[in-house]
Amino acid sequence: MIKPDAVANQHTGKIIDDILGAGFKIIAMKYVHLSDAMAEGFYAVHRERPFFKDLVSFMTSGPIVAAILEKDNAVEDFRKLIGATNPANAEEGTIRKKYAKSIDANAIHGSDSNENAEIEGNYFFSQFERF
Ligand code: ATP
Ligand code: MG
Repeated sequence: MIKPDAVANQHTGKIIDDILGAGFKIIAMKYVHLSDAMAEGFYAVHRERPFFKDLVSFMTSGPIVAAILEKDNAVEDFRKLIGATNPANAEEGTIRKKYAKSIDANAIHGSDSNENAEIEGNYFFSQFERF
């Protein structure tokens, strides 16, 4: 998911370019402004964390781009491509290093396991939206 900060700062095209350049295939993609309920559901695992309220308010602050991507070893390779959660710790050349400003506004989300990739893909896309 390309987060609201990166969409608002017009980084969407460059980020999609980076993703395709790294060998990912786009299976489905949509541009959408999340409701509070959608954002709370997406990040439900973080419900008890102190930053949850700020996270939801950030994720609903503007439109996002959600996508299902395909590649061998996709989860691990995508986490490598996006870099550390806090862009201050992200490696040179990663998406968060290039386009993120803070740990809150960190430009992009990547699934952290195959299981969560399945759940998150289903959260955004019906079976009719995948090719
Ligand atoms: P994401 O799930 O968005 O890809 P991540 O897997 O790198 O990010 P998580 O631990 O899942 O990191 O946290 C989810 C999001 O919550 C982070 O992207 C970040 O924006 C926010 N977050 C995480 N830790 C903190 C923190 N200590 N302070 C503020 N925000 C945080
Ligand atoms: Mg995460």
